[in-house]
Amino acid sequence: MSDDSKKDKIVQTTHRHTLRSSCDGISGVMPGLRFIDIAANLTDGMFRGLYHGKQQHPADISTVLKRAWDAGVERIIVTGGSLHESREALTLADTDGRLYCTVGVHPTRCLEWEDSGDPEKHYQELLALAKEGAAKGKVVAVGECGLDYDRLQFCPAEIQKRYFEKQFDLAEATGLPMFLHMRAAAEDFKTIVERNKNRFRAGCVHSFTGTNEDLQKMVAFPNLYIGINGCSLKTSENLEVLKNIPPGRIMIETDAPYCGIKPTHASSKHIQTTWPSKKKEKWDENSVVKDRNEPCQVRQVFEVIAAVLGEKDYANLSRNFYENTCKVFFPHDIDTLANTWKGSWKANKEGGDLFHMLQFHELHAPSAILRLQPCHRYHWDLQR
Ligand SMILES: [Zn+2]
Repeated sequence: MSDDSKKDKIVQTTHRHTLRSSCDGISGVMPGLRFIDIAANLTDGMFRGLYHGKQQHPADISTVLKRAWDAGVERIIVTGGSLHESREALTLADTDGRLYCTVGVHPTRCLEWEDSGDPEKHYQELLALAKEGAAKGKVVAVGECGLDYDRLQFCPAEIQKRYFEKQFDLAEATGLPMFLHMRAAAEDFKTIVERNKNRFRAGCVHSFTGTNEDLQKMVAFPNLYIGINGCSLKTSENLEVLKNIPPGRIMIETDAPYCGIKPTHASSKHIQTTWPSKKKEKWDENSVVKDRNEPCQVRQVFEVIAAVLGEKDYANLSRNFYENTCKVFFPHDIDTLANTWKGSWKANKEGGDLFHMLQFHELHAPSAILRLQPCHRYHWDLQR
């Protein structure tokens, strides 16, 4: 309790100056820390000030997003957990070039297939939405989908399994990767993934809270990645499991507004960056809301992972997670291409060779628009 309030008062700014400039990252010289929050439930009522149906403060999504961009978050994938919510997620993603989303049905919401009265029609609506959003470059995954045996009260296991499997049809039809949820269901999850492993390109098992044994089942699939958030880092056992995840398979997330790191968690002692915090009743736009997690706090997840893995080179680690994420969710993106380019073009790392850069662009990303920033290194950006 006292720990908590103490932490609330600390405004950590020491990392601010290391945040990215407009020219870093791509050039590989003095890179800042860059994050992608792969899971944010930004359609949740809490970002409209609604808590249990009660209005506690004004809608503050734009403030929340600004805090995220200021903290080095460069993209956010907004989670879609039902057909309706996926539509809302896409509408939100359309409002900012840095927002993306998923389309799918969460395991605890799978009764909606049956309740719709026509599961096939439900599927077709999800498919149409996923295709529409993917064509715009906004829908980057099918999901979230999977199995959650901790919350069978919302949907029985048989229904969860049936419609988890059905969502591989979506992945196959769209070519999108999968955004996966697995809670206390590793064996059945593994069986279903195994049966469908050739129908999807890659996926991320987000909000991973499993045992080491569960982890081994997941990473045995070479195209499965592991999403880590505050819920994945609660106990010292969780932190031990984290050490066994190959760094090349880790992605970071908040699962905001849920899964924040609390002072009682084993992870909390590793946090370096905090923001002023106020209770929802005392909301002000310069503070985060106590007990409401938000995307800027993906930075804390990163700090905990770096500490637990003993990684001192923050820039390298953040780049590593960023690249893992691009490989799966942004495979056609200029960042992914730029990494290839960097690797094959070390000799020119000081930049200046516009000819070769344009040649690379022509060859690998003719449909992307190349924007040159007014700085002495070239900055690539995909304009949508
Ligand atoms: Zn989830």
